[in-house]
Amino acid sequence: MRELHHWVHGEPRSGGTPLTVYGPFDRSALAAVPLAGADVVAAAVESAKAAFAGWRQWSPADRGRLLVELSRQMRERADAFVDAEVAETGKLAAEMRGLLGMSADYFEYYGGVVRALFGETIALGPDDHAFTTREPFGPVGMITPWNGPLSQASRGIAAAVAAGNTVVIKPSEFTPGTTLMLARLASEVGFPPGVVNVVLGDGPGAGAALVGHPDIRLVAFTGSVTTGRSIARAAADRLVPAILELGGKSPNLVFEDADLDAARASALSVCVGAGQQCSALSRLIVQSSVYDSFVARVGKEMAGLVPGPQLAPMTTEAQYEKVLAYFEIAQRDGARLVTGGGTPGGDLAAGRYVQPTVYADVTPGMRIFQEEIFGPVLAVSSFADEDEAVALANDSEYGLVASVWTSDSARALRVASRLEAGQVIVNGGRTGIETPFGGYKASGLGREKGFESLYHYTQVKTTVVSTRR
Ligand code: NAD
Repeated sequence: MRELHHWVHGEPRSGGTPLTVYGPFDRSALAAVPLAGADVVAAAVESAKAAFAGWRQWSPADRGRLLVELSRQMRERADAFVDAEVAETGKLAAEMRGLLGMSADYFEYYGGVVRALFGETIALGPDDHAFTTREPFGPVGMITPWNGPLSQASRGIAAAVAAGNTVVIKPSEFTPGTTLMLARLASEVGFPPGVVNVVLGDGPGAGAALVGHPDIRLVAFTGSVTTGRSIARAAADRLVPAILELGGKSPNLVFEDADLDAARASALSVCVGAGQQCSALSRLIVQSSVYDSFVARVGKEMAGLVPGPQLAPMTTEAQYEKVLAYFEIAQRDGARLVTGGGTPGGDLAAGRYVQPTVYADVTPGMRIFQEEIFGPVLAVSSFADEDEAVALANDSEYGLVASVWTSDSARALRVASRLEAGQVIVNGGRTGIETPFGGYKASGLGREKGFESLYHYTQVKTTVVSTRR
């Protein structure tokens, strides 16, 4: 069992009662994670504040070069990152390899594009010359969940530090390993002490202390809606902005003229990461004329994904229990089980595996239509026409992603414009680190990814110069 330490001002630091974390494959003890109290959080914020004074003076080009070097080193050490995150989260190694590449891409991308982060000049007449600059906020308090630790840390840290901020990140207490590795590597490639600090701890302790710290100038949170609301309240009390990347119950609309590839893609969208993805398309909404045949097809695709080699376990015990509870809720609410609905047993019983699961004939009044399960579980409903499709899709407190499958491109655009979601995918289009990502409605505030993210990690200053004699 590994004993972990916080990473403050470029070196390890101890402090806090240890929590034993048990792995997803066989529930064996993986790590002792110290739960930071307010003292460790204060030391990390002080370090970030001290580092900010110097870091903000670096030119974007110099900061960028360091980010690109970090990206290069991450790729060099890909195996170590992949092994560490697979052990903690249970992810399939091939999926984690892709996420490692994506994480390195964030540093490469923001290291380059930050040099194109310009202000504006504003015409006021001959004697007043106005221009804007985009300035960093200062120390950013960042909090991440357990489902994509390295990629979420990289997404936020890369944009924040490229723009000249410094960071104190609190990863999930269940999966802190790769965030610590990232911070250590940043120090090794030459990031000044204090630009990236990591405090380990739980939400009510270290997380709340970080968000409430008077020297934190911006909060960037990824996690559940419930926690997001409490973070938003804490940030409002201190009048600091909060970027909130929250959950989803994303609709996947399949029209009768859809390509049949939609069935495979629909199954995979809730089985990548074993469905522990905020962007999972967990509500499949199919036109009634093709409903029966499509449900059969998706059921077959899902049943063909084998827990173990093709489907990862649930990362935490609480998440495992939650999915099992939803199996009961779905049955009680009267959804029709097409496949799955239990655990695989056999050799896999020692791990936190659940079966890929499809429920059909789901109606908006059922809890599995409205609530995020965060597992490999599809809730399938039907619609008669375009208006009903849009109404069902939008009948949700969430608005993170929506997907449309149709071969009628006019309909695709018409429907896309009516969907309440931060991103709309048509016919399986692929997003990238370049595309802004974030939620409508309860799925969040602000945007991560893409150039757009740099606007959220900076504030605008207007300077006006008089040239009157
Ligand atoms: P969570 O909200 O329970 O925890 C997220 C983080 O917040 C953890 O680090 C936790 O320790 C911390 N935390 C908990 N209570 C806190 C408090 N009172 N103050 C400060 N910090 C606190 O979420 P989770 O279960 O770890 O993650 C799953 C959720 O994250 C899902 O809802 C998922 O959809 C969402 N998510 C969203 C995105 C996105 O980009 N939109 C990405 C991944 C996951």
